[in-house]
This record gives sequence, structure tokens and C-alpha cells, in this order.
Amino acid sequence: MIAELVFVGTELLLGEILNSNAQFLSQRLALLGIDVYHQQVVGDNPQRLRGVLREALSRSDVVITSGGLGPTMDDITREMAAEVAGRPLEVDPHVLEDLKAWFARRGRTMTENNTRQAMVPRGAQVLPNDRGTAPGLVIPAPGGKVIILLPGPPNELRPMFEQQVIPYLTHRMGGMPLSLVSRTLRFIDIGESALEDALKDLIGSQRDPSIATYAKLGEVHLRLATKAPDQAAGMARIAQVEGEIRRRLGKHIYGTDETRLEEAVGQLLRERQMHVTLAESCTGGLVAKRLTDIPGSSDYLGIGFVTYSNEAKHKFLGVPEPLLAEHGAVSEPVVRAMASGALERSGADVALAISGIAGPGGGTPDKPVGTVWFGLAASGASGLPAGEWAFVQYMQGSREDIRERSSTVALAALRRYLLGQPV
Ligand code: ATP
Ligand code: MG
Repeated sequence: MIAELVFVGTELLLGEILNSNAQFLSQRLALLGIDVYHQQVVGDNPQRLRGVLREALSRSDVVITSGGLGPTMDDITREMAAEVAGRPLEVDPHVLEDLKAWFARRGRTMTENNTRQAMVPRGAQVLPNDRGTAPGLVIPAPGGKVIILLPGPPNELRPMFEQQVIPYLTHRMGGMPLSLVSRTLRFIDIGESALEDALKDLIGSQRDPSIATYAKLGEVHLRLATKAPDQAAGMARIAQVEGEIRRRLGKHIYGTDETRLEEAVGQLLRERQMHVTLAESCTGGLVAKRLTDIPGSSDYLGIGFVTYSNEAKHKFLGVPEPLLAEHGAVSEPVVRAMASGALERSGADVALAISGIAGPGGGTPDKPVGTVWFGLAASGASGLPAGEWAFVQYMQGSREDIRERSSTVALAALRRYLLGQPV
């Protein structure tokens, strides 16, 4: 079954309101396993709305609209849909009764234009709306197709969709809805193209589950998706492909679904009963922020240093002044000294140091904006090696991007160390 969504309202076109109904309906239909290939926003204009509905009906089995069912002149969805479906509008006595009762309950007088809301295309099914005056409508259209009209306000549309439209669609699909089952594998230390290259035979031949990669800032997500009668059946199909992907690239997978890198790294620290400390310059505490976003992180993070100036690097981390003078703050010797100083002064088992040029100013020909040095120092707890490591990366992007990406690179280095991989 192919569904298509049409959102009616000039307010949407002008950006005055966010089209949250689009997200809601798209997610629900995906969960039902119903394909949506097109969705459109159209203003309160009869010709254009008529055109959009015709086009949608020509290529989809079910057209779902939101908005424009109200009593005012600009609410034209009902009229246009009836016309496109080829069904005359007639006053529905039951709907009219309900409307009258709705107004009576609230002690409001019903105006003439409200009776428009009691107009129902011949043969359409009415979806009662207990939160507003506009009922929804299921209008049969030529070719066994259907147009489903829903009110615009989300507090009316959502319950109507959940309680009335889902059962209708499920029944229409033969009572056995296929749900979309998906799983996301989260990769670090590998780019999107290298990942695709390592899996190109699978990506090329694999249709079910489908495989799609998404590049994120400093990491890549791979989504496996299939349609199945239930979660377990879908997961079983996904597990086979996931197994093959893990055989090839498992060391780069830090987590699945909603797991964040800071959460995965925190878990590794907890398992090893280790403490980490931080010596942050250009990230300004971002790594500390990400680690402490995770509840319970005091199990493995006690203190982090934000040492932005050279003076602070010297005073709080013991970085020798001549080192700063000779090499500059963004240099291998300085990140090494920051990491080892933080390790010593915190009493932690492992220290991460970051010093870079996040821009937009401050770049030089040999240290352009985006140059970031990373240091890691470790005391050799939990059977892992003691020592000091450092590496540099050259990044692109805005100040915000460079800082965010740096925090990811630092966490990834810590993960490698904790897994016994080369830092
Ligand atoms: P009413 O009877 O309230 O006039 P309606 O079905 O005619 O309802 P609209 O007039 O198109 O719907 O929109 C009414 C309100 O619903 C809008 O002002 C807005 O707050 C909300 N709304 C409409 N469409 C959307 C949408 N796509 N996403 C989120 N909110 C929406
Ligand atoms: Mg309206």
C-alpha cells in the first residue's frame, strides 16, 4: 500500500507553524509498514489544492490530508476532496446533531458556517472528533482508492489517527499489518565511503533488510530495516546481516540504536573500574559535558580541567613555560604535557588532552584553523599499557563543528585505548 500526505494551510507555507503533523504521520505510517513516496504542503487555494489532490490520487492508494476542515471560508479541503473523488456533498443529519450538541454543551451558538462541517461526501465514512468540531472523513475514490481527511490541530489529528485511522488502514491491508523493524549500528574511526566500500557487495545485493549509511559529525550510522509481522521476526532477519557486518567491521561499532559514544565509553570505563580525567583547551569542557550527560558518570569521572590560556596550562597542569613558548599551545609536546600533568594531578588512570585552533581566527600557514592535537596518558591500570600518546587531526568546518568533532575524536581515542587497540 502506498500512501501520500497532503498538508493544507498557508500558515505552513509561510513558516508560521511547524509541520509537526508531517513527522507524526510519517513515523506512524512507517511503523505500519506503509510506504510514503511523496508528501506536499499546499496553501488554502482551491485550484492548487485540487491539483495536488488529483496528482496524489493518481499515484497513491491512500491520500491523507491534514488541515482545512474548519468552518471558515479558507477551509476548503472537504469541498476539493469531494470534487476530486467525484462525490457530491450532502448534509449528514448525524453529524449535524453532533455539532449542535457540541455547541450546546459549551453554551455557544452555532453559526451558519458551522453547518458546512456537517457536509459529508456521499458514501464517505465519518470519523468523529471529540476534541473539536471538524470530523474526519474517509472518502472512497475511483479505482478502489481513498482520501482520508484529518483536522489540522495536532491534539485532534493524533487521537483520531491512532484510534480510528490505524484500525481502518490495518483492516484495509488485510488485518495483518507489517511493521517496520530497524536497527542502527553506530561506527567510529571509519568514514562513510570506507564503510560503504567494505560492505559494497552487501549494499549492492541486499534488499531485505535494506542497508543505508548516514554520515554524522565524526561518526557514521548504518541502518538496517525490514518489514515483518512482528519485532522478533524482523530482528531475526536483521541479525543475519548484522552478524556479517560485525565480522568485517566489528571493532568500529561502538553501539546500536540510541547508544551515544560517551555512553559506550563510560560503560568501558566502568567495566574496567577506571577513572578518566580531561585536560581540555579548545573544546572548553565539551568532553566533560558529554561524559557527564550520562547518569552515573561520577563512577568514572571525578575531575576535568578546562585550561584555555597558556598560564592555566602551566599553573594547573604543570605544562613547562618554555615548552609553551617554544612549540605553542597547539603542539605535540604540549598536549603530551597536558595529559601527563592532568593524570598526575587528578590521580585518575587515564587522561585525555585536547588543544587546537577552532577558528574562525587564530590560524597560521603551518597551523591552519582546524589543527587539533590530542594527547592520552595512562598509568597502566586494568592490565592496559602505561604511557603517553599523541596525534594530530586537521578538520574542516565551523568553530562549533570543529569543537564537536574534536570531542568525538578524543572519546574515540579513549575507546581505542580501553579496548587495547592502538591509540
Ligand atoms: P480548525 O477547525 O481548527 O480550523 P482545520 O482542520 O481547519 O481546523 P487548519 O485551519 O488548517 O485546520 O489549522 C488549524 C490549526 O491546526 C493551525 O492553526 C495549527 O495550529 C494547527 N495545524 C494545522 N496544520 C498543522 C500541521 N501540519 N502541523 C502542525 N499543526 C498544524
Ligand atoms: Mg481552519
